[in-house]
Amino acid sequence: MIEHPTIEIDVPLAPLTTYKVGGPAAYFAEPNDLLDLRDVLEAVGPDIQIVVLGRGSNVVISDDGIDGLVVKLGHSFQAAAISRDGSIVAGGGMPLPKLARFAAQEGRGGLGFYVGIPGSVGGAVRMNAGGHGAQTADVLDHAVVLDARTAEVVEMTPTELALSYRHSGLTDTDIVVQATYHTHPADKAALDLELREITRWRKDNQPGGTLNAGSVFKNPPGDHAGAIIDRVGLKGVRFGAVAVSDVHANFMVAASDATASDIFRFVYRIKAIVRDETGIDLEPEIKFLGDFSSVVAPP
Ligand SMILES: Cc1cc2nc3c(=O)[nH]c(=O)nc-3n(C[C@H](O)[C@H](O)[C@H](O)COP(=O)(O)OP(=O)(O)OC[C@H]3O[C@@H](n4cnc5c(N)ncnc54)[C@H](O)[C@@H]3O)c2cc1C
Repeated sequence: MIEHPTIEIDVPLAPLTTYKVGGPAAYFAEPNDLLDLRDVLEAVGPDIQIVVLGRGSNVVISDDGIDGLVVKLGHSFQAAAISRDGSIVAGGGMPLPKLARFAAQEGRGGLGFYVGIPGSVGGAVRMNAGGHGAQTADVLDHAVVLDARTAEVVEMTPTELALSYRHSGLTDTDIVVQATYHTHPADKAALDLELREITRWRKDNQPGGTLNAGSVFKNPPGDHAGAIIDRVGLKGVRFGAVAVSDVHANFMVAASDATASDIFRFVYRIKAIVRDETGIDLEPEIKFLGDFSSVVAPP
């Protein structure tokens, strides 16, 4: 048993994710700064599984929870500042919409696309999050990454991070604690309008107010996963407590009594139907965290 003043035991994780499903973390910490984070990692030692949770907007946590340490970056990781050269330095835990608004208020362009992505800076670097014609790799100068095993901190450029479509080369023990973005000067009123237009587009084209984790599958080259699912006739289809959204066919919407296992089975059922009907093997973009080995999914 690990005993440490800031490490909590058996902490429910469902409320920390957008799907609101999943079991507890055996150990949970919300370190306030780099010193705290290093202290927590030293206390748990090198042999424990570590999961970093951002805003939980791209994950499904197993109903069995996480048998390890879940780290959520605390207060001082949730701020941004502007440098003299106009680059913006943001903490790994900062919510992306807040960062987009901060940049707009400072009259700096380039980060507007983040306004509609409900993740954090760390999650965006890990996933190379993007939309509206831009992605994190385009605007990231470098990220500061802490290796949870050695507590060493390194600066990594987009090339070193191996950022590609909704992918990075980071592993589960790499914690993005800070990111520096290059931005350009822009008219504040025009930036404000951009944010409002993106927000309106999202309201019109995504199932707002539902339990989901955004796009479930990656788009295959030259096509859109949502359009493929729609063509197969699955838009709006419901199996049990999970449905394909009738607004956006790449969003899988969960009922409030859905479990993580329900979502896992549903996603793999849709994948199997699409593969059987079209030969296209869709790859999940969302991450299933924890143990799903006992959940039976279609082959
Ligand atoms: C309504 C909705 C709309 C969305 N629209 C988009 C979109 O347009 N474009 C898009 O790309 N995504 C979209 N997403 C998905 C999601 O918001 C992004 O993938 C986001 O970058 C995930 O960030 P997060 O902080 O929520 O990460 P989490 O979901 O908490 O975690 C995702 C992965 O990143 C890792 N991670 C989290 N924080 C860190 C960190 N500090 N250091 C290292 N690894 C970390 C986690 O361990 C996990 O592997 C959408 C989701 C929703 C719910």
